[in-house]
Amino acid sequence: MNGEQPDELPLPPDDGPDAVLDVGGLLGADGPIARRLPDFEVRPQQLALAETIERCLRQRRHLVAEAGTGTGKSFAYLLPAALHADAHQGEGPVVISTRTIALQEQLEQKDLPFLHAVLPFEWSSVTAIGRNNYVCLRRMHLAEREQHLLEDPERHSQLRRIVDWSLHTADGTRQSLDFEPRAEVWEEVQAEHGNCLQRACKHYDHCHWQRARRRMQTAQVLIVNHALYFADLALRIAGASYLPAHRVVVFDEAHHLERVATESLGLRVGRTTVGWHLRRMHSRRQQKSLLARHCGAAAMLLWEEAGLVNEALFADLQDRLQKGGSGEGLALHEQQIEETLSPILRALSGELAAAAVRTEQVDAQMELQARANGLDGLCATLRALCTHNPVAETPLVRWLEPSRHGALLCGAPLDVSAALRKHLFDGGPTAVLTSATLGTGDDASFGWLRQQLGLDRAETLRVGSPFDYDRNVEMVFEEAMPDPSRDAQAWRRDVADRTRRHVLDNGGRALVLCTSWDLVRFLAAELRRPLGDRDIQLLVQGEAPLTRLLEQKRDDARSVLIGTDSLWEGIDVRGDALTMVVITRLPFASPGHPLTQARMQALQAKGLDPFRDHSLPEAILKFRQGFGRLIRSGQDRGKVVVMDPRLRTKAYGRRFVAALPFSADYDADGRSYGA
Ligand code: SF4
Repeated sequence: MNGEQPDELPLPPDDGPDAVLDVGGLLGADGPIARRLPDFEVRPQQLALAETIERCLRQRRHLVAEAGTGTGKSFAYLLPAALHADAHQGEGPVVISTRTIALQEQLEQKDLPFLHAVLPFEWSSVTAIGRNNYVCLRRMHLAEREQHLLEDPERHSQLRRIVDWSLHTADGTRQSLDFEPRAEVWEEVQAEHGNCLQRACKHYDHCHWQRARRRMQTAQVLIVNHALYFADLALRIAGASYLPAHRVVVFDEAHHLERVATESLGLRVGRTTVGWHLRRMHSRRQQKSLLARHCGAAAMLLWEEAGLVNEALFADLQDRLQKGGSGEGLALHEQQIEETLSPILRALSGELAAAAVRTEQVDAQMELQARANGLDGLCATLRALCTHNPVAETPLVRWLEPSRHGALLCGAPLDVSAALRKHLFDGGPTAVLTSATLGTGDDASFGWLRQQLGLDRAETLRVGSPFDYDRNVEMVFEEAMPDPSRDAQAWRRDVADRTRRHVLDNGGRALVLCTSWDLVRFLAAELRRPLGDRDIQLLVQGEAPLTRLLEQKRDDARSVLIGTDSLWEGIDVRGDALTMVVITRLPFASPGHPLTQARMQALQAKGLDPFRDHSLPEAILKFRQGFGRLIRSGQDRGKVVVMDPRLRTKAYGRRFVAALPFSADYDADGRSYGA
């Protein structure tokens, strides 16, 4: 039981003062963890990972480490992190970055309390979340005094509830409220960058955000998520920071880093973004808005004009998108977009800043200046997205993207590797990148991942899973199917037929992985009745929140879950509830997105093959993740059915099979082919 804890915490450790503290001793058969977890098993894979991390931290070398499912990764990095933090006090925290807030909470609530109880030394760990999650008491009282939320009874009532809650909340975070406040209510009371009086604030001593910040500054181990870490990196590049300086960072689920870095270093503006900024200073329903109380008629006219020009600009962009774009967007290439919005926003920002200087009320000054700064940032983003800049240090790919609220103006670095190399990996903290899937299986140095991330020098490690895949997994590669890239209609009819047969034979208990929403809807429609006739519940992604679908899947073991993208990884359904995974199609990403196209062209321009050097490794990685949904514990067993004939008919198909965690024999033409 590595990484799983009992309901009750163990007694304090009784190790003597001379106990040798290294991860080998802690994770060994006679170590404190084994003594306190009756079903703990020493896993050589876990030990190898933990010892390599410990050594790399000591030698200040970056590490890329793939560790198969069931290794007990979280203990394998938390233990060396705690030991390193203890040995290097005063040098900043060891930062652990997880993929999601939910995974942060899992460490905070399960793994860390156990390790605090077991390790024979005092150390501190703190979970960091973004500043906007904390209430700002000064702004909350301002909102209460000014009552500009009170024109709507529901907002009024929510504000009152927040004020009451603030009297007894332990941490002042939005997550600890017993209701979900409307966004516009929380925005009036949240702590904000550039809107804090620091020590001059009369609430400073009781401020939840300031306390959290102090805890973050003194923490020895700091738990963050990737989005927060890379938002902080973007701030650092711009000369500011949120997280404390640190010498070590451990990234779990590190195969997500390129995507998160692209999002954090990218830009995105829509009609509703501009509308949001405008609404935060005034709305037609508000008589006592910030703008109405502190600015004159000129500012009000600019506000009206900005609203109209915003509508016109994004209507025009929507028009362009509809005329020239695909379902995934429209590349802007070298096009300039003429826009008259930013001069108006800039003038409005000037009015707000002037009003901030005029007023003697400190609270109003802060609000006015914060709104002005917000508009300045928005203008800079609009300028970057509307202008083609061929001499930029990091070229920006720009495109229009469809959304529920109309066209979005988007931009992202053509390549994040240069920025990450410069600002993260070269001269930055020692980085450990780990995940169950980091490569294609046949690439010992994880070259594809490292090249994407700009990680030139790193030690590498691959440890397999302790699970017995040869014994516990039956592979079925369906034969004689139409090629989906040639005759998609015939292929999907065949997939529906075969999926129905397999799932019914298995008595449900299946996960069906698709590569498009279109296929999810088609298969759901085809499967609903035959499954219903056998009293098997069909759970379809998109018909309920994913967490609820997963709860239903675990509660009703015979149910069948069908979905796309986010089901291929990160979901953990054990035992009888999941004994079959159907992979409908090899998960090649759609090449239609403007950013993907630009990146493919850039590879071609460098003389590389976009399919071989990008699409294929990316798809193999995702295929491995989909396969990995089946076996989540040593007791799990079942069948993986693959419905894509290209696995057998294309030369690259062998690479998918070879990437699976079977012994060499299994991946030859033996029982692995054909049911
Ligand atoms: S210290 Fe800053 S964040 Fe805290 S209550 Fe005062 S202004 Fe708000």
